[in-house]
Amino acid sequence: MADKTKGQTLREELFYVKKNAFEIKTSEELAQAKEYAAGYTAWLDKSKTERECVNASIELLEANGYTEYKLGDAVKAGDKIYLNNRGKGLFAIKVGTENIENGVYIMASHIDSPRLDLKQHPLYENDGFGYFKTHYYGGIRKYQWATIPLAIHGVVTKADGTNVDIRIGDEPGDPVFCITDLLPHLAKDQNSRPLGSAFTGEGLNVVLATSPFIEEDGKVTPASDKVKLNVMIMLNEKYGITESDFMSAEISIVPAQNAADVGMDRWLIGSYGHDDRVCAYPSLTALFENADTEKTCMAVLADKEETGSDGISGMQCCLLFDIIDELAKNLGGNTNVVRMNSKCLSADVTACFDPNYPEVSEKRNTSILHCGVGMSKYTGSGGKGGTNDASAEFVGYVRKIFDDAKVMWQTAELGKVDQGGGGTVAKYIANHNIQTIDVGVPVLSMHAPFELISKSDLYETHRAFAAFCK
Ligand code: MN
Ligand code: MN
Repeated sequence: MADKTKGQTLREELFYVKKNAFEIKTSEELAQAKEYAAGYTAWLDKSKTERECVNASIELLEANGYTEYKLGDAVKAGDKIYLNNRGKGLFAIKVGTENIENGVYIMASHIDSPRLDLKQHPLYENDGFGYFKTHYYGGIRKYQWATIPLAIHGVVTKADGTNVDIRIGDEPGDPVFCITDLLPHLAKDQNSRPLGSAFTGEGLNVVLATSPFIEEDGKVTPASDKVKLNVMIMLNEKYGITESDFMSAEISIVPAQNAADVGMDRWLIGSYGHDDRVCAYPSLTALFENADTEKTCMAVLADKEETGSDGISGMQCCLLFDIIDELAKNLGGNTNVVRMNSKCLSADVTACFDPNYPEVSEKRNTSILHCGVGMSKYTGSGGKGGTNDASAEFVGYVRKIFDDAKVMWQTAELGKVDQGGGGTVAKYIANHNIQTIDVGVPVLSMHAPFELISKSDLYETHRAFAAFCK
C-alpha cells in the first residue's frame, strides 16, 4: 500500500467524518441492537396513550425492584422509587449513595403523542352514520388520519366517581374505526386546496356504527337518532356508561396497528407514538443498567409536551422541582445547590434526514439515519426563538461522556434555518438552573400515525443514557 501523503494524513487528523452503524459496529453489536428493539416494541404496543404508557412503565419498574413513592415519603440512599403523577406522568428515581449536592442526573422525555381526542359531547348521528366528534391533540397533518384503521383508548370517570378504561380496536378480533376521505373522482375542489387546509379539524369525524336499534318486534325504532341509540346501548353494555359520562372522560382516537419491522433487512421500526416514547424507554433501561451506581438518577416521563407542556402533568408544572426539593431535604442537601449541580438530558426525538425530502434539511447539520443518537445544542425557530441553547461547556461535558463510552452520537438540527422548527421540554428544566441539552432518537415521518426509527439509533440512545447515569 502506498504511503499516505501529508495532506491525506492531516485530513484524517483534522476532519470530522460521520460514520454509520454498519461501518463501525461489529455483527455482535448489531445483533444486540435488534434484540434491544424487541423489548421496546413489546412495551410500546401497550403504551398508546400516556396513561397506558405509565402503566406499562410501572410494570417494568416493579419488575426491576422499584416501589411506589408519594410526595412527602421518607427517602434514603439506595432507594429505587417511582412517583405516579395522577396516572399521566411518571418519575423513576434511583437514589445514589454520593452527596445529593453533587446533583441529580435527569433524563426527561414525554409520553404523550399527537392524536385525536373526543370532544365532551362527541356522539352524534348524521344520515344513518353514528360518529364521534374529535378535537385534535398536538401537531398533526390532518390528511394522514383519514382512511387508516383507528382504535379508541381512554378513561371515563362515571357519575359515581369510579373510573372505567376503554380500549377497542387493538385486540385480535376487535373492530376498528375510520375517518373517511373523498374518492379521487370527486375530489376536484378538495384537490385544489392547499394540503394544510384540504382537511378541517371539524371534519375529523370517526365512523362508529351504521346500523339502527331494532325493537323487540323486529322493527327499526321510530326515532331520528336510532344509530346513535344503538351505539350508546353497546357502550353501556360494555362499559356501563351513559352519554353524560363523556363529559368527564379522556378518550383518544389512535392508530390501530401495532409496531412492525420495516424493510427487508428489518432495521427500521414503524409505529405510532415513537415521539417520544422511543426516548422514554431507553431512559428506564438506562436506570436498570446502572442499578448500583453512586449517582442519583431520574427518568421523567412527562405528559402534555405536544400541547406546550402546560398543566399539572406537563413539564412546566413544579412537581419535578418539588421532588428534587424532597430529595435534598431527606438526604441532607441544599435544594438550590442540588439543582445548580444537576444535569439533564432533555430526551426527545429529532428530525431525521429524509432522502425523499432533502430540501427541508441542511444535510451537514441534520441527523442521519443509523448514525446514532442525535444531540441538539439548540432547538426553537425564527433565529433560535424559544430555545434552551446549551453552552459549549455542557455540550463538551456530555460529548466526553458519550465518547468515553464509545456511544455513536451525532449533532442534530430540526431542519433548515427558517424552514420551521420546534421545541422540547429542555427550556422548562433549564429555567430552574439545571444544565440541560436535547438528546434523542432521529425520526422519519415525525407526528405521522406511523413514524419510522432505526433500531441502531434506538440502541445507541440507550447506551448514551446509560453512560450518562453511570
Ligand atoms: Mn417530542
Ligand atoms: Mn412531538
